[in-house]
Amino acid sequence: MSVVDDAAFAPAKKERWTYQWKELYDEVIDSKLCTGCAGCVISCPHDVIGYNHEEGEYRPFHLEEELGFDDCIHGQKGCTSCTRACPRFRAWEPEANEHLFARDRGDDEIAGIYSDIMLTRASDDMVHKMGQDGGLVSAILIWALDEGYIDGALTSFMEGPASDWKARPGVATNRDEVLESAGSRYTYSANTLAINEALERGLTKLALVGMSCQSSVPPVMWHRKIGKIGKPITFNLGLLCSKTFDDSIFAELFEAKYGLDKHEMVKMNIKGVFQIWMKDGSYHEINLKECHAWTREGCTYCPDFAAEHADISCGGIGKDNDWTLTIVRTELGREIIQRMIADGSIVARPGDSDPAAIELMRKLSIKSRERWPAWASDVVRLGLPEKKKPVAATA
Ligand SMILES: Cc1cc2nc3c(=O)[nH]c(=O)nc-3n(C[C@H](O)[C@H](O)[C@H](O)COP(=O)(O)OP(=O)(O)OC[C@H]3O[C@@H](n4cnc5c(N)ncnc54)[C@H](O)[C@@H]3O)c2cc1C
Ligand code: SF4
Ligand code: SF4
Repeated sequence: MSVVDDAAFAPAKKERWTYQWKELYDEVIDSKLCTGCAGCVISCPHDVIGYNHEEGEYRPFHLEEELGFDDCIHGQKGCTSCTRACPRFRAWEPEANEHLFARDRGDDEIAGIYSDIMLTRASDDMVHKMGQDGGLVSAILIWALDEGYIDGALTSFMEGPASDWKARPGVATNRDEVLESAGSRYTYSANTLAINEALERGLTKLALVGMSCQSSVPPVMWHRKIGKIGKPITFNLGLLCSKTFDDSIFAELFEAKYGLDKHEMVKMNIKGVFQIWMKDGSYHEINLKECHAWTREGCTYCPDFAAEHADISCGGIGKDNDWTLTIVRTELGREIIQRMIADGSIVARPGDSDPAAIELMRKLSIKSRERWPAWASDVVRLGLPEKKKPVAATA
């Protein structure tokens, strides 16, 4: 890993973009800034970047070994797609902000730039019931499919039987598929990877549902002019996120210590504690500190709690469990939410009705940004409160 000179992050400087897998490997993957979002994988026109979905992995790797695992023959010949897609490479944050909002965020915008914040829930009882919180994400997808904003959504399903809790990226094109994918799994699912299936099925207008790290992929791609792979994603729904867990947490903690078999689990949520509901009707809470050891490595340095580059970001914080905290960021996001409120598809109330939720979002955004390492781009830490120096003891 090389420590990158901060001048390299200056967004204003226009230089020829020559960076390829070699720089990506050195500055993002080897340095552990890599989140596993798979932006580089889907962008590669030569299909030489693979992705490892296994426990302890969730990382991209180079499939050709001619120049070793950390260099690329196509990159040597001028291909730069992977670095153009990576939302942790160089000045990713100001570049995405510039693209979406025509400005960078101010130091008081620690949760990213937004125009409105509210609490929402699906009006349709089934959608509300199937959703993790207010069912907003599923309600939006169903509505956007019906209204022709999208013809498919890159979301997350379960691989094999639902009781295995192994998340896998997939495509939803109708109400049934949207509801099949509803709810949260707290392990990683690189939903970007579902784009290949969507394109094979001839879909052209896609929503991406993704964790904060994934929702920065489209605007970074667009800003860096990646070309056709960035075009089908037309709508970006982000999920608030402070971490995901490695799949091994099921066997090594939940089962080994608490005797909770994953095949017997029906729902899980995180509300200050890890909550687990079982088929036999029992409910269990596990201290998050205990879960910490199973944090997925890709989350270690992640600075983005609030999915700051989505059209609409959605979270579960708030005093009422069955509402979705909804952060409207772009014009498109605003148009969709306003139309859904107007036609009664969702119910909304102002964010001010739960000020503690907004304050908690700010605190958690600070906490995530504090993880961003001092040796990487300074701009990402913009707005962090100064840490108080310990007062020297007096005699
Ligand atoms: C791993 C993870 C961590 C989260 N952490 C927080 C948090 O710390 N604080 C907070 O306020 N909110 C967090 N959320 C968001 C919250 O759990 C809800 O997803 C959000 O409030 C939307 O609820 P809903 O009822 O509107 O969504 P739903 O209608 O239930 O739709 C949820 C959508 O998320 C997709 N999805 C489910 N699991 C995954 C996954 N692992 N990866 C990618 N996509 C997935 C589903 O396919 C579906 O499209 C997290 C979500 C996930 C998946
Ligand atoms: S952060 Fe995403 S795009 Fe960047 S190297 Fe990792 S997987 Fe690839
Ligand atoms: S904390 Fe969430 S948003 Fe950040 S890298 Fe991990 S999964 Fe992605």
